[in-house]
Amino acid sequence: MVAARGGGTVVGSDWRTEAFARLHTRLGSVLGDKTAAEFGKLGLQTVGDLLAHLPRRYFSGTELSDLSALEEGEEVAVLAEVQRVTAHNVPGRGSGAVRGKPRLEAVITDHKGSLTLAFFGKAHMIAYWHDQLTPGSRGIFAGKVGVFRDQFQLAHPDFVMLDANGAVVGGARRNEVLTRVTRVPLIGIYPATRKLPTWAIAECVALALEHLGEVDDPLPAAVRDHAGVVGLVEAYRGVHLPQTRAEIDPARARLRFDEAFAIGLTMAVRRADAVAHGATPRPRVPGRLLDAFDARLPFELTEGQQQVSAEIFADLAQSHPMQRLLQGEVGSGKTVVALRAMLTVVDGGGQAALLAPTEVLATQHFHTLTRMLGELAEAGTLSAAEHATRLTLLTGSLPAARRREALLAATSGEAGIVIGTHALLGDRVQFADLGLVVVDEQHRFGVEQRALLGARAEAAGAARPHVLVMTATPIPRSVAMTVFGDLETSTLRQSPGGRAEVRTVVVDSRSHPAWVDRAWALIAEQVAAGRQAYVVCPRISETDRSEESRPLDAEDAPPDDGVPVPPAATVEQTWAELTAGPLAELRVGMLHGQLPAEQKEERMAAFAAGELDVLVSTTVIEVGVDVPNASVMVICDADRFGISQLHQLRGRIGRGGHAGTCLLLTAAEPDSLARERLDAVASTRDGFVLAEVDLEQRREGDVLGASQSGRRTSLRMLRVLRDGDLIEQARGIADACVRADPQLEDPGLADVVAGIEQRAAAEWLERS
Ligand code: ADP
Ligand code: MG
Repeated sequence: MVAARGGGTVVGSDWRTEAFARLHTRLGSVLGDKTAAEFGKLGLQTVGDLLAHLPRRYFSGTELSDLSALEEGEEVAVLAEVQRVTAHNVPGRGSGAVRGKPRLEAVITDHKGSLTLAFFGKAHMIAYWHDQLTPGSRGIFAGKVGVFRDQFQLAHPDFVMLDANGAVVGGARRNEVLTRVTRVPLIGIYPATRKLPTWAIAECVALALEHLGEVDDPLPAAVRDHAGVVGLVEAYRGVHLPQTRAEIDPARARLRFDEAFAIGLTMAVRRADAVAHGATPRPRVPGRLLDAFDARLPFELTEGQQQVSAEIFADLAQSHPMQRLLQGEVGSGKTVVALRAMLTVVDGGGQAALLAPTEVLATQHFHTLTRMLGELAEAGTLSAAEHATRLTLLTGSLPAARRREALLAATSGEAGIVIGTHALLGDRVQFADLGLVVVDEQHRFGVEQRALLGARAEAAGAARPHVLVMTATPIPRSVAMTVFGDLETSTLRQSPGGRAEVRTVVVDSRSHPAWVDRAWALIAEQVAAGRQAYVVCPRISETDRSEESRPLDAEDAPPDDGVPVPPAATVEQTWAELTAGPLAELRVGMLHGQLPAEQKEERMAAFAAGELDVLVSTTVIEVGVDVPNASVMVICDADRFGISQLHQLRGRIGRGGHAGTCLLLTAAEPDSLARERLDAVASTRDGFVLAEVDLEQRREGDVLGASQSGRRTSLRMLRVLRDGDLIEQARGIADACVRADPQLEDPGLADVVAGIEQRAAAEWLERS
C-alpha cells in the first residue's frame, strides 16, 4: 500500500524504525493464520493492533469481582467462590432419578451477588468437574453471561481453581498461559469473543509482546520528556501485564499521548505541506464584481461576516492554498461570506466551485446565488453589467445536452462560478482555472477529499485551489483540532437580525397517540394563519433502500441501543395518510431524492412560492433550504435521526421572524439513549452544547469518520471530549517538531505520520 505524505510517498512496509516495523507485523506470522483470522474478525490485523486491544479491567487473585454488576451478553471472567454444586441425571451422583442429559450446576458467589454455572457432558466429565468445584474454594470463571429461568448463568465457562495464595491449583495445567498469567499479581480481562476467550487473548498478547521485544522507543527522547510519558515497551507491558495497579495509568497515558501526538503531527505536516504548495494569489481587485455586489446588497454585513471575510481575503491573497473551515449555525450568513470569496477569485481571473452534499441543495444554491447576484450573473447577455460572470449548475441529473453545455462552460472558463455536488471533483470535470473550492457542509467532505483536490491539481500541473469548508454543525474545539486539524477555523457566532423563537417538544406517540393528532391540528392552524409546515420522515417508501432512506448514515448514526426497531415512517405513506385525513383540506406536496430532478425543483419552488402549504419530505430539506414563511416542523420517528441532523432540520423554521414549533414524534422508550437525544435537542438550540452531547453519546471512533460497523480508526483510547487538554498539548509538541524538523528526518516522527496516512488511505479506499 502506498500512502501520500508530504512531498512524496511512503511504502507501507517501509518503516524506518524497528518499533514500527514490529508493530506492523501481520498477526499471522506471529500467531499463525488461524488465530490471526479470528482476530481479523475483531478488526485486529497487526501486532500493534493486538497490543492496542486493552484489558477492560484487571483483578488480582485476592480480590473478588462484583457479581452484582454483570450484564446479559457480556463476556466476563470473574473471580468468585464456589457456594454449592449439584449434579443432575448422573447415576450415583447428585439428586433425583435419571431423567435427561447429565448436567452439573454450580452456584458461585462474591458475597454480594451470585451466578449459576451450567455444565453438560458425559457422566465422567460431570464427575471431573464436580471434583474440581469444591464448595468454599475460589476460581476464575470465564464465559458469556446468559439468562436461564430469570437468572444469570455462564454455560460451560472456562475455569481454573485457585489455592489460598491465589495460584492456580494443579490439574488445571490445561492452560499454561493462564497458569503463568495467574502467577502475576494482576490479571487483565480482555474484551473477548466465544472463539477468543480472555485467556486466549492474554496468551496471544504475551506472544505479541515477545515479538516486540526491547525495541528502541520510536519517539525522540525530547518529545517523551516534554510530554512526561513512559517508554513504549514499558507502556505495553504496563497495560497488559502490570505488576501493580500504579503501573496501569502511566502506561495508558503513554498510549493515549501517542494517538494525540500522531494526529497532531500529521495535521502539522499537512499544514506545512499546504504552505509549501503553490496557489495563485487572488488579492482583492477594487472596482469589479465584488464591489458591485457589495453595492447591491440589501443589508449591512454583520461584524462577524466582515471579520471572517477579512480573514478569507487575507488567505486568498497568499501564494499558498487557503485551508479554512467556516462554522456558523444555519442562518448565520455563511452563504454571503462564501459568495464574496468566490467573487474575489473571479475578479482575480479565476473560477470558483461550490460543492453541496445533495443535488437539491446544489440547485437551491444555484437559485439563491443567481438571485443575489442579479444582473451580475448575466455575463454574455445584452443587459449585462460591465463586470458580470456566469453561474453554472452542473449535476448528474441534468439532461445530457445541458450537462454538456455546463461542462463546456467550466472548461472554457466562461462560467465564473460552477455549482454542483461533490461529484464535481470527478475526473471528467475540467476547469479553465479553478481558484477556489467552497464546500458546503463538511460532514461528507473529509481530509481525503481535500487531499484528492491537491493530487488533481498536481496531476494537471496546476496550482492548488484555495479551499473553504463550511459547516453548520458546530464543532467542539478538540474535534476541530483532530478531525479538521489541518484547517484554520473561522466562526460566525451570531445570526443577522437574530432568530425567532422556536419551541421544540418531544411527542411520545406510543403513550399519547392523541398528541400526534394535535400535531396535525397545529399544522392546520398555522396554515390558516398564513404559515407553512414541513413534515419530515426517515424513509421514502416501504421498498426503498437508498442512502437517503437510511438517515443514520455512517457519520451521523447515533449508537445502537441494541433494541430491535420497527420500520420507520415513510414519506409516501405519511403523505397518503395526511392527504386522506387530517390535512385533506391543505395543499400538501411530497419531496424526496428519488423524484426526477425537475419535479424536485418544481415542488421546492412551489413550496417557496407559497403554492404548497405543507411539504412532506426526507432529509433533503436538511440544510440550506430557505423558506422564511415556514413555522412548523413535525419530524416523524425523530429517534431515527442523529442530534446534528435534528438540529439542522429544525433550523429550517423560525427564519422569517415567525415564532416556530418543532415537534419530535417518537415511540422510543422514555429512558432510552434515543429519547435522551431528543430531550437534548428539545432542551437547547445551542449547537455547541448539542455537538458535545452528540459526541458523548457516540463512540469517539466515529469521529474520525469510520462507520460503526466495527471498523477501527486511529482513535482507540483518546476521548476527543475528555482529552481536549492532551490533544492541545500534543499538538503544541507536534508543531514544535515540524518547525524543528520540517522534512521529518527523524525516523520515528516519519513513521508516526506514515502510520496515520496509511490508515487514512486504507479507510478512504474502503469507503470509496
Ligand atoms: P447560512 O448559509 O449560514 O445558513 P445564509 O447565508 O443562507 O445563512 O443567511 C441566512 C439568511 O440571512 C439569508 O436570507 C440571507 O440573505 C440573510 N442574511 C445574511 N447576512 C445578512 C445580514 N448581514 N443582514 C441581514 N440578513 C442577512
Ligand atoms: Mg447555507
